[in-house]
Amino acid sequence: MSTLFLRTLRDDPADAEVPSHKLLVRAGYVRRVAPGVYSWLPLGLRVLRAVENIVREEMNSIGAQEILLPALLPREPYETTARWTEYGDNLFRVKDRKGTDMLLGPTHEEIFAQLVKSEYSSYKDLPVILYQIQTKYRDEERPRAGILRGREFVMKDSYSFDLDDDGLKASYIAHRDAYQRIFARLAVRYVIVAATSGAMGGSASEEFLAESEVGEDTFVRCVESGYAANVEAVVTPAPESIPFDGLAEAQVHETPDTTTIETLVAWANETLDGTFDAADTLKNVMVKVRQPGGEWELLGIGVPGNREVDFKRLEASLEPAEVEMLTEADFTANAFLVKGYIGPKALQENGVRYLVDPRVVDGTAWITGADQPNRHVVGLVAGRDFTPDGTIEAAEILDGDLSPDGKGPLVAAKGIEIGHIFQLGQKYTNAFEVDVLGESGKPVRLTMGSYGVGVSRLVAVIAEQQHDDKGLCWPAEVAPYDVHLVIANKDEAAIGGATSLAEELDAEGLDVLLDDRKSSPGVKFKDAELLGMPIVVVVGRGYANGVVEVRDRFTGESAEVPVDNAVSAIVAAVRG
Ligand code: ATP
Ligand code: MG
Repeated sequence: MSTLFLRTLRDDPADAEVPSHKLLVRAGYVRRVAPGVYSWLPLGLRVLRAVENIVREEMNSIGAQEILLPALLPREPYETTARWTEYGDNLFRVKDRKGTDMLLGPTHEEIFAQLVKSEYSSYKDLPVILYQIQTKYRDEERPRAGILRGREFVMKDSYSFDLDDDGLKASYIAHRDAYQRIFARLAVRYVIVAATSGAMGGSASEEFLAESEVGEDTFVRCVESGYAANVEAVVTPAPESIPFDGLAEAQVHETPDTTTIETLVAWANETLDGTFDAADTLKNVMVKVRQPGGEWELLGIGVPGNREVDFKRLEASLEPAEVEMLTEADFTANAFLVKGYIGPKALQENGVRYLVDPRVVDGTAWITGADQPNRHVVGLVAGRDFTPDGTIEAAEILDGDLSPDGKGPLVAAKGIEIGHIFQLGQKYTNAFEVDVLGESGKPVRLTMGSYGVGVSRLVAVIAEQQHDDKGLCWPAEVAPYDVHLVIANKDEAAIGGATSLAEELDAEGLDVLLDDRKSSPGVKFKDAELLGMPIVVVVGRGYANGVVEVRDRFTGESAEVPVDNAVSAIVAAVRG
């Protein structure tokens, strides 16, 4: 440590909010260069490489073959699939000296599809799984939490090519199993959830979410059935529609000062027959939407008043379009939008697209805005008095909602996406006409899967799940060093003893970090806790009496071990 390129910090960096970010910076693992762009210092790089190697071993074990593609890519293939436009502002676009458009790869479906097309021509070559562990670039809107969401980050991306759906399913399952082994080895607590396929296109897809309070993804689980899904992928079960016969006429009422759902429900319970709650009201939320390369258009979203619009669900439903809330200027420019009193009628009369929650089925009657200040309409019946342009999954999922399989209530939690597996199907092989000659002599269009692991993100995820108030606590498989050996004794004999102990452990194949600095024992112990090696060995005062101390960073337990037995005791502690 006296020569290690390492400076630990006493204070949290000012821009850090989540524990992993604070600790990885304080412990000198990473350093920020620009927003979402980080350098890996010696200790951090060792963890990154360890994660990479576990991923590599498990990918190799399913027969995947490692290759390495460039990050600097031509525009053309991404134009062929429309992703040059659809990726929007997230894509780093660059021009070369001749003014030719290029990009920094955010993910590589296009290039892998082209590569397989150019190399393979017969069904005999298939199936094949190719992967790379490579630096990706995405100009994230909100880079966050250090390496957790970077603009430059390391991903393992693999791509399977098969002759038919059964082959694709087998490749998908092989990846799913490999991912489970990877995350088990990394000691990550995670769940597998149903996912939407987002900008990738395609059908079946699942995400691996590490359980964490600081996660940006919300997922729900049903304990009774085992159903688990990212909230973005939850499909709301639609109730049966209701016959119109006997439903009362819609009536407009004066409802002074009822711009909120709460005040509206209070008014209804005071004024109307019966009892009402927020779920009886229809809240119309206005957003604007822009298709890739298109113009902003208004969109009205109707949801039961007891639910907010979940912006992430809304975005996922509208992908690849962009969504934004309306500004004051938008309201001013569209005078028919009466804030607090917006109803389906004005939207439809003014040609604004109007999508509703799946619960808004034909025959349901609603209290909703009458498009005039201080007025609401009661008993407005879907399918009779207004006809939405369709349904949309945009309403928030609430704890306790019925699971889509009807088997029990949903429970929500937060997670960080660490892996994503997709059955893409033929989206990309169609775009590039990736065919081989089939067994029958006719061409066969290949079907494709794509699979990602957030390699650099995992370093932060492990730190996030495995730390305490004193510092990091690396699981053995990824710790930068197996043993942190602290010399806490100025005596020459002790220093000599510690140095030879380090050499003997090294000869046993252990990686040893030797704290041979001149600092005080207190400083050294603090750093050992901060840096988080799994086993800390202290050569201290006890050395004179023939003992060293062996501490388990994880459990905090410590034991005195005779110097003569120290090597075997430490090897046993490391190897479990
Ligand atoms: P997110 O929803 O977190 O933005 P994504 O859906 O964009 O992720 P994919 O395109 O499926 O992610 O990428 C594969 C994996 O790469 C993700 O599961 C995640 O672990 C990792 N990853 C994606 N974006 C980033 C990023 N900005 N920084 C670090 N890792 C990332
Ligand atoms: Mg993303």
